[in-house]
Amino acid sequence: MDKKIAEIKQLAKEEDVHFLRLMFTDILGVIKNVEVPISQLDKVLENKMMFDGSSIEGFVRIEESDMYLYPDLDTWLVFPWETSHGKVARLICDVYTPDGEPFAGDPRGNLKRNLSKMKELGFTAFNLGAEPEFFLFKLDADNKPTLNVNDDGGYFDLSPTDLGENCRREIVLELEKLGFEIEASHHECATGQHEIDFKYEDVLKACDEIQTFKLVVKTIARKHGLHATFMPKPIHGIAGSGMHCNMSLFKNGKNVFFDESDERQLSQTAYHFLAGLIEHARSYTAVCNPLVNSYKRLVPGYEAPVYVAWSGRNRSPLIRIPASRGMSTRLELRSVDPSANPYLAMAALLEAGLDGIRRELTPPAEVNQNIYEMTQEERVAAGIKDLPSTLHNAVKDFKKDDTMKEALGEHIFESFIASKEQEWADYRERVTQWEIDTYLTLY
Ligand code: ADP
Ligand code: MG
Ligand code: MG
Ligand code: MG
Ligand code: MG
Repeated sequence: MDKKIAEIKQLAKEEDVHFLRLMFTDILGVIKNVEVPISQLDKVLENKMMFDGSSIEGFVRIEESDMYLYPDLDTWLVFPWETSHGKVARLICDVYTPDGEPFAGDPRGNLKRNLSKMKELGFTAFNLGAEPEFFLFKLDADNKPTLNVNDDGGYFDLSPTDLGENCRREIVLELEKLGFEIEASHHECATGQHEIDFKYEDVLKACDEIQTFKLVVKTIARKHGLHATFMPKPIHGIAGSGMHCNMSLFKNGKNVFFDESDERQLSQTAYHFLAGLIEHARSYTAVCNPLVNSYKRLVPGYEAPVYVAWSGRNRSPLIRIPASRGMSTRLELRSVDPSANPYLAMAALLEAGLDGIRRELTPPAEVNQNIYEMTQEERVAAGIKDLPSTLHNAVKDFKKDDTMKEALGEHIFESFIASKEQEWADYRERVTQWEIDTYLTLY
């Protein structure tokens, strides 16, 4: 540990870092920053940085407002872009109480708690490969985001019309400077929409990367006069943005989802994990698709899942098993969108999968038919449930699921529900443009 501290001090000097950003993520998935001048580095490295938790909505009650930031020394990095005040470095932190206990309302700390439960079952790593999508929109004369896309490109389009491509290229280069291993980046189906895939990592690191990724994408987009958004469905009538999550469990560096002797070369562990993901699908949706707007994406016709089913062949169901085997054996959950708090979403998904393993659940039959062409009767007969159609319905199922309570811990579970019920209550009172257009003159 001391060696790492010395290393960081040395790097801060060598790179002439002037400011240090201490980052953590609140329950709603928003990145919070406490920025200090580099003169405070010693204090930071001794876990002595305090902040007022009550200033963050839903984080703590007033009486427990003093919180401490414990930096994770593995997350040190210097942002590659210059500011007018010199270089800025960051450390991602865990939140601790004044008594030196991990704070129960810290999503990153909560994911660590779930990982230690996983280790008790004998697994050594839970891996996540995320495929976040986002839109690039033009800014108006006042630098406010518009809904105007800046290109007419299509999926994998190579034509010179792809003006967003320059911006995306720079994003990829900056990410590589930050140590990301970018596997692919391409234009998505919708105009103005992009996807950047980075190599899977141990889940904690992968979640840190997702948060860093969002920051980098937004920063570079601004430099190009664009606004990047991870809002799940900004425009009606075209595809929304998802964040497929590829997941696997390792034991001592071996992928335990892989079993050569099985007809699909999947292990019993993989089938149990899959069954857990199916069993809890309606409830973890609240965490994986946490906005009112998330449910405008989960509709038929745009490649987003709508029904709870899995397939090894088909690309449309909730859970797909990509064809690669060996170390790449994985389950891909296709419902998640990038507005999800990755630490909470992954805690919920891990616990859902582990519940399947503990109870040795068996997944339902694989569905290789086009589910969208089945009638409702056929789906009911096949035991295929719908995903929740609104945030309200998702939260109702989430609240009833003890596995979700276990995954998030009581503090986050209760705060999350309260916050999402409030969001729904606000939304349901609004009169939308669609209602005006449809009803105002007719009635
Ligand atoms: P798609 O065909 O769905 O577009 P991509 O190639 O874009 O797939 O993304 C696949 C993701 O899966 C990448 O992030 C990759 O690193 C990740 N991945 C590969 N092997 C594993 C594994 N064993 N566990 C988790 N993720 C994995
Ligand atoms: Mg992809
Ligand atoms: Mg793809
Ligand atoms: Mg995609
Ligand atoms: Mg995918």
